[in-house]
Amino acid sequence: MKIASVIIDIPTQALDAPYSYAVPDEMLGGEGGAHPAEVGCAVLVTLGGRKAVGYIVGLEEPAASPDEGTDLWGNPLAAAGLRQVEAVLSAPYFDEEGAAAAQYIADRYVAPLASCVRLFTPPGAVPRVVRGRDGRWRLEEPSVGEVDDRWVTRGPAFDAFQPRKNAVRQQQVMAAVAAGDVRVAELAAEFGAVSSTLRTLAARGAVVVEERRRLRGDLGPAASPTVAPPLTEGQAAAVAAIEEARAAACGRVVLIDGVTGSGKTEVYLQAIARTLDEGRSAIVLVPEISLTPQTVARFRGRFGDAVAVMHSRMSAGERYDQWDFIRSGAARVVVGARSALFTPLANVGLVVIDEEHEGSYKQDSAPRYAAGEVAAWMMERAGGTLVLGSATPSIEALYHGARDPRWTQVALTERANGRPMPPIEVVNMAAEFASGARSMFSSRLTRALAAELSAGRKVVLLLNQRGFAKFLLCRDCGFVPECPSCSTSLTYHEQGAKLVCHHCGYTVPAPPVCPECNSPYLKKFGAGTQRVEADLRALLDGMAGVGPSVPIIRMDADTTKAKGAHQALLEQFAAADAAVLLGTQMIAKGLDFDDVTLVGVINADTQLHLPDYRAGERTFQLIEQVAGRAGRANLPGRVMVQTYEADSIAIRAAAAYDRAAFLRAELPKRQMLGFPPYVRMANVLVWGADEHEVGREAELLYGQIHELIRSEVGDSRWQVLPAVPCVLGKLRNTYRYHIVVKAPQDADISAPLAKLFRARKPNPQVNAAVDVDPMDL
Ligand code: ADP
Ligand code: ZN
Ligand code: ZN
Repeated sequence: MKIASVIIDIPTQALDAPYSYAVPDEMLGGEGGAHPAEVGCAVLVTLGGRKAVGYIVGLEEPAASPDEGTDLWGNPLAAAGLRQVEAVLSAPYFDEEGAAAAQYIADRYVAPLASCVRLFTPPGAVPRVVRGRDGRWRLEEPSVGEVDDRWVTRGPAFDAFQPRKNAVRQQQVMAAVAAGDVRVAELAAEFGAVSSTLRTLAARGAVVVEERRRLRGDLGPAASPTVAPPLTEGQAAAVAAIEEARAAACGRVVLIDGVTGSGKTEVYLQAIARTLDEGRSAIVLVPEISLTPQTVARFRGRFGDAVAVMHSRMSAGERYDQWDFIRSGAARVVVGARSALFTPLANVGLVVIDEEHEGSYKQDSAPRYAAGEVAAWMMERAGGTLVLGSATPSIEALYHGARDPRWTQVALTERANGRPMPPIEVVNMAAEFASGARSMFSSRLTRALAAELSAGRKVVLLLNQRGFAKFLLCRDCGFVPECPSCSTSLTYHEQGAKLVCHHCGYTVPAPPVCPECNSPYLKKFGAGTQRVEADLRALLDGMAGVGPSVPIIRMDADTTKAKGAHQALLEQFAAADAAVLLGTQMIAKGLDFDDVTLVGVINADTQLHLPDYRAGERTFQLIEQVAGRAGRANLPGRVMVQTYEADSIAIRAAAAYDRAAFLRAELPKRQMLGFPPYVRMANVLVWGADEHEVGREAELLYGQIHELIRSEVGDSRWQVLPAVPCVLGKLRNTYRYHIVVKAPQDADISAPLAKLFRARKPNPQVNAAVDVDPMDL
């Protein structure tokens, strides 16, 4: 018998802990065809008189008496009085390292352990326990992909086999198989009936016909194999730095700080190839939005079918098939969004995080983990290496890169093709406005559009999303229609004349007159992307040498809703001659079109005004990233940034590609005001339906945190800011408050908060959670 620590799979806000259950010997041996009980197995247990699903996160020898031992969580290890596990429901989903990682994430991010263990279980439906015809309990996993695909591949006697001269069908099949594995269905489509031919060939050992599971979903066209090009000097230095870190095998971090187009992806590919040569596997994290078929094709082109893909735009079935494919051991490289860190890929020796600065690497619901930090922890445990890459590394990464002895920084300052970075011009819109111009396209941008488009070239125009929401305003009484559930104004949509809440989706027809004062003077303010498109259309139509035949391809949340729409729009842009790609932030990164010669930022300002200490950093990053879309191939490019704040240091420094100048201004500000990287922050979130209760609970928590820090930490450098409403104080009918906690950079900010949250009596009306290293306050 052994004692299992079992975490119960129930959604909970509270900080949970496993319970002990006894595991009888039969279960350890795999009773009645069930999987032997191991760490990572799903199990059926009884809790509070009810059956529940849990996962084994620890398995220990029993202690002789109750006071002789406890598990990590303080549960008794003596069998006396313990309930038994009722059934083992599945093969293990994770191993002891996975269990340790889940516990690390729970501790570090003050999150329920069950939510962390869930990162490792198969994607798809909520687990449901079913009883099979044999009377056994098991966990229902999403159904696996169909096995209707039969493939023909070379048999042991393939080379020796000579078809007879008149056996045409045999010759055709052998020729097809010589070119590569082929589906039976494809052979039949091409040559007609093949089954008797295949039977004959298989009987002679010339071919093997095997059933392969067809993985649901389309990873894109089978990319043609690519070979590694000779590396540039910078790339070679980067690969060498990664090799050195890999040889140390102790969780070193390599930061590749390389301008857009410097060939970072090629560096990743070669580092991965060497990792695979050593028999280890690799994970590549890519921001969700740049996980396009092109990105996947670059990895498949080098590593073929050993590449698995995992991201949230795939259906549950598709993700499950990829997960199961990884579990089978056939995948060696997983390319995916942040959750790809937790797939059952064995023996991971390298994790690459591309576009390291992206906010999407932080999860914004429990567990609120940062993929980079978790990957660093995992690689340290596994003796692997973490590679971070970006053209605009986060200030935190630059800070660690410069002073942490386990970090190495490599700069790639030149593009792989030797082209210079495009010059960036700042267009002062305030001056344009003063001189009487009213168009959202400055005269300089207009001239540049005319020049490039009439020469048959492509243009990318970036709309800063947040600055272009359109709303209704009553000119008589100032009324602005707001969402009844969220504290935001509703956005006006031209199509169908609707008002839509962009947080909760609430939709109403736009009123013809002001609902407050009945005035007919309701004016539309702001310029939605549709309006920008219409104005641009009118501008181009009247332009000599351009005209209506030049397409405008609009890419925003509306036009990319449908599956594959994003991809289709990009293909449309690639296929066109002169064309404009007009889009929100989603076009700022990863696009690689040869013939884009002009990039325009229609309004770079709005980010600067957000109550966000990272606003300057984000503006700087956005301009540098979008500039990287211009002049990637043989044609030189240029960039125009329109702004009402031409003097802002973030914009001026970005235009000069002068990161040092930006940091010289930004870092002292952060240090003085007490922001990362100089302090560690945690944001304590409090939310609920009753505004009064939420405010009271937030006050109470503030007092408790303040007292705890004073009495337990006793370090005057810690700071607890009073409870205040969040910037978005009401969202989907939920009122939100927060309390900001700041600690010295090297302090463990999680432990005291976890202690408080464990002891805290939950308020049934109000939720509370901790967000460690928050992306937004
Ligand atoms: P990044 O990821 O840094 O933006 P990429 O890896 O996308 O850069 O490379 C930019 C372009 O340069 C790609 O078209 C790539 O194929 C090409 N490239 C990269 N490395 C080399 C090399 N060593 N020789 C020739 N072309 C290269
Ligand atoms: Zn009014
Ligand atoms: Zn709303």
